[in-house]
Parts: sequence; structure tokens; C-alpha cells
Amino acid sequence: MDATEVAARATDLYKTYGSGEAQVIALRGVNVELQRSHFTAIMGPSGSGKSTLMHCLAGLDSVSRGQVYIGDTQVTGLGDAGLTKLRRDKVGFVFQQFNLLPTLTAAENILLPLSIAGRKPDRQWYDTVIDTVNLRDRLDHRPAQLSGGQQQRVACARALVGRPEVVFADEPTGNLDSRSGAEILSFLRASVRDYGQTIVMVTHDPNAASYADRVIFLTDGQIVDEMRDPTAEAVLDRLKSLDTPAAATQSER
Ligand code: ADP
Repeated sequence: MDATEVAARATDLYKTYGSGEAQVIALRGVNVELQRSHFTAIMGPSGSGKSTLMHCLAGLDSVSRGQVYIGDTQVTGLGDAGLTKLRRDKVGFVFQQFNLLPTLTAAENILLPLSIAGRKPDRQWYDTVIDTVNLRDRLDHRPAQLSGGQQQRVACARALVGRPEVVFADEPTGNLDSRSGAEILSFLRASVRDYGQTIVMVTHDPNAASYADRVIFLTDGQIVDEMRDPTAEAVLDRLKSLDTPAAATQSER
């Protein structure tokens, strides 16, 4: 892959937690390039290192060995100030629990990261995002006045409005009914197709993964397989073939 086509990459990534007998090796030698303007899903059994990989890629967690780049910025090696700036300017986040501020309106939540960064929203882009997630008539509502699906749409708008290099989504549909979940996944898909956004999503749901261009399978802290243009059935089969007790449990959910 040409370097300009890579939105994020990890080289020989290791992450250990704890030490001595309590040591857990969460990532063991992960190498991955995440293509710009692509939607990548990270899958694998519970405990396989999905969240750790995402957190290391996003600069939310330190690595034990190896390098992470977002665009041409080397994330590993940045100090606290550099990491804060990176998270503010180059990445967007969508979490399972929405993570909206309850006292702010939808519009204020969406614009908060930009206002913290002292950046002015691009009005036209803001309008496009609001219309894409269909929130025009909910902008003055506070999170408690919105359904789960609407709250997650606010979170998606917040992630997209700064045009980050990468949007990281951690089980974004985990708290939603299937209809709201499908809506969110369609927005994420559309932002890749129509606006060239790069998205990396952790999920255990084969149906959610089927919205991605590429699925990466982790087992025991290592990438063991990947799939392009996935279907839910093919993903489910692949999860079963990973053939660990945990994988079997996951695929039965
Ligand atoms: P997944 O997201 O695939 O469920 P995680 O990345 O959360 O997996 O975890 C990978 C491994 O690292 C697991 O064995 C988990 O228990 C361990 N782990 C994750 N976070 C911590 C932490 N803060 N301290 C100690 N161990 C952790």
C-alpha cells in the first residue's frame, strides 16, 4: 500500500499489562495497515485484544513495544501534550455508551471537541453531517430527551464534524436495538463512501462487521486472518473456524 493511502498503521505492536505472574500479553506482534477511506472491523473472541489494539492505535493507551502511526504522525513516542493534540485533531470516537455530556444540547455536544480545540466548524460540513445523521429537529434536545439511537447519532456527528483522520468506534451498536444499530452502521458506511472518512470499528457482531470493507480477526493478541467485502454469514463461519472455546461462545450469541 502506498504510504499516502494508509490512515493508520501498527508495526510489531506488543502490549503487556502487569508484571510477573500477573502479566497479561494483550497484543503480541501486531502488524496492520488501515487503508484511508476504508471501513475496517476488528473482530475476535472476548479477551483477544480488540479493545487494546484500538486503544493503542488511537493513542488512548501506551504500547510496550512497536510503533503506531496515524497519517504521518508517529503516535508512539508522543508526550502527553502531543497525545492530547492528536486525540483532539486527528481522531474521532464513538463509544458503546455514547458518552455525551448530559447538561449540553445535541448541538453543543457535537461542537464540543471543536470548541475545546479552538476550531471553528466548517458550516457547510456541519450542515451536511447534521443532515446525514438526520438530527436537524433534535439539535436543542439534551441526551436524556433522546432515544439511544438518536444519542448515538449525536455521537457519530460529534466524531465526524472535525473531519478526523480516523474515526474509532468501539461496539457502536452494542447498546442499540437492531433497527437503530442498522441506522448507525449505515451512517458510518455512508461517511466512508460519500466523504472518504476512514473508520475502524471493534465489534463482536458479524452483522455489524458485514458493513465494513475489511474484517481483521484477532486471537490471543495476534492477527490470525482477514476478509475483504465480508458477509455476515462468512464472518460467522470464520469466527467458528477460529476454533477456540471463546470463539464458539461468541458466535453462539
Ligand atoms: P477484547 O477487547 O478482545 O475483549 P481486550 O483488549 O479488552 O480484549 O483484552 C485483552 C487482554 O488484556 C485480556 O486478557 C484482558 O483481560 C487484558 N487486559 C485488558 N485491559 C487490561 C488492563 N487494564 N489491565 C490488565 N489486563 C488487561
